[in-house]
Amino acid sequence: MSDFEGLRALVTGGASGIGRATAHLLAERGARVAVLDLDTATVDRPLLGHRADVTDDTAVRRAVSAAAADLGGLDVLVNNAGIGARGTVEDNDDAEWHRVLDVNVVGMVRVARAALPHLRRSSHAAVVNTCSIAATAGLPQRALYSATKGAVYSLTLAMAADHVHEGIRVNCVNPGTADTPWIGRLLDAADDPAAERAALEARQPTGRLVTAAEVAGAIAYLASPLSGATTGTALAVDGGMQGLRPRPA
Ligand code: NAD
Repeated sequence: MSDFEGLRALVTGGASGIGRATAHLLAERGARVAVLDLDTATVDRPLLGHRADVTDDTAVRRAVSAAAADLGGLDVLVNNAGIGARGTVEDNDDAEWHRVLDVNVVGMVRVARAALPHLRRSSHAAVVNTCSIAATAGLPQRALYSATKGAVYSLTLAMAADHVHEGIRVNCVNPGTADTPWIGRLLDAADDPAAERAALEARQPTGRLVTAAEVAGAIAYLASPLSGATTGTALAVDGGMQGLRPRPA
């Protein structure tokens, strides 16, 4: 992987999990990195924290322009902040649908809208959206979450088409179940956390959860000039879940 020397990156949801691993990886590779998150208390140097809720357009605009000012511009946007939701279509009411869509889909749109004027001035502009295997896999008990990630996948393709002639590449990563604080919370809430963890591991042919570092590596590749001919694609980081059969019991 080439390094990111001189590149300037903004990572949303960079205070935890996949975003945090990505922000640190890009910084280790030489990028200057800002994080936009609800809570920046855990964001430590050399990362620059900017607090904003992606559902608040004014706060997003303010944070993105402050980040671009701190970094001296923007080359890379990692649009990663997102939340989960469980259940079938009968389990979540309209308010819940609007709440999760507002974070996972419109939130990414708000950040992209604020970042695009800065990305246009870059000669290595790349956007990487954190999508999910849920966009394409038909997971049970994930109707709302899957719909938001299906939208992120389509948004990735549409943005790639709209901005390719401006030299801005747009791709997404589709993680399987990744071992992050989010999954930790999900397991803590389960009746039998060990059994739930084993079920999640068994769902992936590699027999284990994906690590945040592995997703960060894929995001870094799609953000780097090494993937300069790649736009409008989804890179699965899912332990073979999309393409392979599960392990025999
Ligand atoms: P996480 O909960 O560990 O981190 C998410 C971060 O996003 C947190 O720092 C949180 O504060 C921030 N965030 C949440 N809502 C926000 C808002 N309204 N405004 C600003 N920041 C907000 O979760 P994670 O597992 O690292 O997930 C990151 C992304 O990866 C999400 O988009 C998620 O859908 C996606 N993803 C995760 C998994 C998984 O198994 N962990 C699998 C596929 C996709």
